[in-house]
Amino acid sequence: LQLMRASIDEIIRECLELLEYKLKNINVELDLQLDEAYCIDTEAAKQIVMNICLNAIQAMRDGGTLKITTYRTDDDLVLVFTDTGSGIPGEIIDKIFDPFFTTKEVGEGTGLGLAVTDSLVQQLGGHIEVESEPGRGSRFIIYLPIKLSCP
Ligand code: ADP
Ligand code: MG
Repeated sequence: LQLMRASIDEIIRECLELLEYKLKNINVELDLQLDEAYCIDTEAAKQIVMNICLNAIQAMRDGGTLKITTYRTDDDLVLVFTDTGSGIPGEIIDKIFDPFFTTKEVGEGTGLGLAVTDSLVQQLGGHIEVESEPGRGSRFIIYLPIKLSCP
C-alpha cells in the first residue's frame, strides 16, 4: 500500500472524465463531500472507483442514472454508487465477488473486477456492502477507514 494525502472526490472526478465516452446516455448525479485530502492509496482508489463505475455503466445499456455520494463518518470515508440498471438477481448476489464469476459475454467481462475491488478494499481495512433490486438497480457502498498517519 502507498498512502498519500489526496481527495477521494478528485479521484472520482478523474475517473468519470476517463469514462466520459461511456457515460453518453447516462445521467450522472454527484453529491461529493470528500474534497479535503485524506490518507489514501490513490492507485487502489482509482481501481475501485473504475471497477464499480464500469459495472454500473454496463448494467445501464439503455441509459439511466449513476449517482455517486461521498461522505465521512467518525471512522470511515464512505463512497456510495447507486445505479438504475438491471439489478442483481438474489440467486447470484453472493457470488459476484468471486474471482471469474461473470454474467457477461466472453470478451465483455472477466469476472475479476469485483474480486480485485473487494481485495483492495480489504487491504485498506475496509469493506463493501451491496444492495440490489432486480429490474430497478444496485447500490455499492464502500467503507474505508480513515487513516490518521500518512507517511
Ligand atoms: P465482470 O464485470 O467482468 O462481469 P465483476 O467482478 O466486475 O465482473 O462483476 C461480476 C458480476 O456482478 C457481473 O458479471 C454482474 O453480473 C454483477 N454486477 C456487478 N455490478 C453490477 C451492477 N452495478 N449491476 C448489475 N450487476 C452487477
Ligand atoms: Mg466488472
